[in-house]
Order: sequence, then C-alpha cells, then structure tokens
Amino acid sequence: RNREARLNRQPQAPLRQSLKFDQLPEYQRVLTQRKVGEVIGVDNPFYRSHDVAAGATTVMAGRNFANFASYDYLGTNTDPKVTSRAKEAIDRYGISASASRLVAGERPVHTELEATLAEVYGVEAAVCFVSGYLTNVAAISCIVGPQDLVVHDEFIHNSALAGIKQSGATRRLFRHNDVDNLETVLKTLSSEFRRVLVIVEGVYSMDGDIADLPRLLELRSRYGFWLMVDEAHALGVLGKTGRGTFEHFDVDPQEVDIWMGTLSKTTSSCGGYIAGSQALADILKAEAGGFVYSVGLAPVLAAAAKAGLDILRSEPERTEKLHRNGALFLQEARKAGLDTGLSVGFSVVPVLVGDSLRAVQLSNELLEDGVNALPIIHPAVPEGQARLRFFITCNHTDDQIRHAVEATARRLKALQERNFGLASLNM
Ligand code: PMP
Repeated sequence: RNREARLNRQPQAPLRQSLKFDQLPEYQRVLTQRKVGEVIGVDNPFYRSHDVAAGATTVMAGRNFANFASYDYLGTNTDPKVTSRAKEAIDRYGISASASRLVAGERPVHTELEATLAEVYGVEAAVCFVSGYLTNVAAISCIVGPQDLVVHDEFIHNSALAGIKQSGATRRLFRHNDVDNLETVLKTLSSEFRRVLVIVEGVYSMDGDIADLPRLLELRSRYGFWLMVDEAHALGVLGKTGRGTFEHFDVDPQEVDIWMGTLSKTTSSCGGYIAGSQALADILKAEAGGFVYSVGLAPVLAAAAKAGLDILRSEPERTEKLHRNGALFLQEARKAGLDTGLSVGFSVVPVLVGDSLRAVQLSNELLEDGVNALPIIHPAVPEGQARLRFFITCNHTDDQIRHAVEATARRLKALQERNFGLASLNM
C-alpha cells in the first residue's frame, strides 16, 4: 500500500523543463528549416520517393533519371546472381537471424561471408555487424577506452566519431589527409596513453580523395599506433581488382591493424565488417556490445553480400569500368569548369557550389534535366562548402555522365548569375 501511495503522490515542484517534444529547440529548428524552404519556394531535396531499385538509373513519379545518388558501385543490387542467392537464403533460413548469433546461432552464410571477406583482404578473419554505422561504433568503443587516445582525420565519418565518443577515449584530430600534421599531434601526445588508435578512410566519403596509406604505415612503424582504415567507399573501387586501398598502393594488407567496411555499398546489401587478425575478430565477437547484444546479420543480407563479393572477385571488369567512369566524370567536370574539390575520380565526385541553398536549388533544378544528384549541406560539411555529391557506378553510360556534367555546369552558371543579380540589387 505504501508503494501505491508513493505512486499516487503529486509531484512537489513543477518540472523544470517541458517534456513535450514539440517544445524543444531542436523541433523549432526543424520547423524553421521547413518554413524557410516554403517561403523561398525551394522543395526539400531529401527523401525523394523512387519507384524502382537503387542503381545507375531510377524512376520517380513515372519519369526516368540518371541516378548519381546510390552506392551501387559495381551494379550488384539488381544482378540476378545476387537476387537469386538472396531468394534461396530466404527460402532456406527465413528473414531474420532472430536473435544475437550467440543465442540464435549462426547460419552457414555468416561464416561463408566472413571467410570470403578475410580472403578478399588477405587477412586472418572478419566479423560482420548489422550495419556499417554500428560496426564503427561497436568496434571502436570495444578496443579503446578512457585511458586511450584516438587520433583521426578531421573528415572521418560520423559513425567513427560516435564510436570514439562512446569509448571515452581522448580524441584529437589532424588536418585532412595531412600525415605531417598527424605526426605533429602524435609527437606531443602519444606517450601519456595506454593505446593509440589512428583512424582514416580509404576513400573519403564527402571529398573522394584517398588516404596516403604508405606514409601512414611508415609513421606507424615509428610511433607504434594501431591503424584503422574505413573502406566504405574503397572496396570494389580502388585497386585493379577492387580489393581497396591496399591494392591501390600495393601494400601488404596485414600491415593495417583494422580494416573496416560496409556491406551496403559495393556489395549492395546491409551490414558492416571488421577484417584483421583472428584475435581481433575473436575479441569483437566476445566483447563488442553491438555484436553480442544485437541481432545477427539477417541470413538473406549475408547471402546477398557474399554474392556481391563473388562478383567483385570474378568480374574485375566492373571495377575497371568504374575507374573509367570516374575518370570520365572528373575529366568532363574539370573541362566544364566545375570545382570537384579534392576528388581523384573514383566512387565519389563532389561538385562544390558554395552555400547550402544554392546546392539545394541546383539539385532540384537538375531534376528538370533528368539527373538525380543530392546536395550535401551544412552541418555535414562546413557552410560555404556545400556541394552536390555524385556517386559513380560501373553501370553509368558515357552519355549519362556527359549529360549530367553539362547540365550541372549550365544550371550552376545560371544560378550564380541569378544570385549575383540579386546581390547587386541589395547593394
Ligand atoms: N563509414 C563511411 C565512410 C560511410 O560513408 C558510411 C555510410 N555512408 C558508413 C561508414 C556507415 O555505413 P552504413 O551506411 O552501411 O551503415
């Protein structure tokens, strides 16, 4: 009865803060953004509804578009060799792994996928998680803790930042792709810490440039840190046969302590992985919260990813075509006077346009030309560095690439002239 009385008691003092979500400043920001869009007549470019599978072409509201907004780098998403294996896996194993692999057990597709990933990287073992994002969070927060230091490129993905935050490790960043700056940071800091982890991306997701792996390894041999490379945009993309950054630079993959990647890009599935030593995989399978306490990768997604990796290995011509497409896009964009920033023309080519509003307008206007490319705006990139980001796949045709570049240059020029006209009116 005491407990009941306690529960029925009215709170003594009014709550200090509103518990209603629509009262939060975060929600007011959402409303303001929406309102600004309405007032200036700009549609929200995000969450566009597509009628067909993600790939080099798409259909929206019955109209065809060349699509530069999907990660289907090797065109495996709708390949019958992938979809048939996924269907077989559904027939055999159903949809879900049904619980953590610790509890519900594993299916042969899990071990086959992990063995294939280890083979592709030329390392001892791999372990898969249910998303790429979770892979970074779970792995980083498992292997470093409050006594450790993580030094990372200033442009690493949000998921790695979330992992570092969760780990409680001290965090320092170094200037983008600047190995000298990394050395300066290490010189001043590394001796105080138990372990030092350095995190970079093989191909940077916002800029499309490549980490200087040979120099990072040289630094590693002198400073003795762990090196983790996020290969989300590099697997299937870099190297003659698409093995990624180590093949691009012709270095021994075993030199890198932690390879991380996602199954949602080149392998057109969903999930993520860590590849490296057997001991690392064993530690993660035993201790990473995001593995132990989360459902196992759905067998259908494991089967699809494995089929995607088989295509990567048996059809290197897809990677070769992707290289040609990336180079063509970059060459045409530069010829047209577009600013492609740091991109070296593989999977990701940004076109820098200035402020966020202009990037949104450009993306919306390109729809008129049958081109779907999404803007990246503040806070994902600093204000003033908004861009359209083009994902190149092996299935884009030369015509699609030339047309997309021509339309982007033409529309951007018109927008700049219009904005310049408005600015001079204001003076
Ligand atoms: N790392 C990088 C560099 C990424 O770009 C992404 C996603 N875009 C992720 C990790 C997370 O992968 P996923 O979307 O498969 O969860």
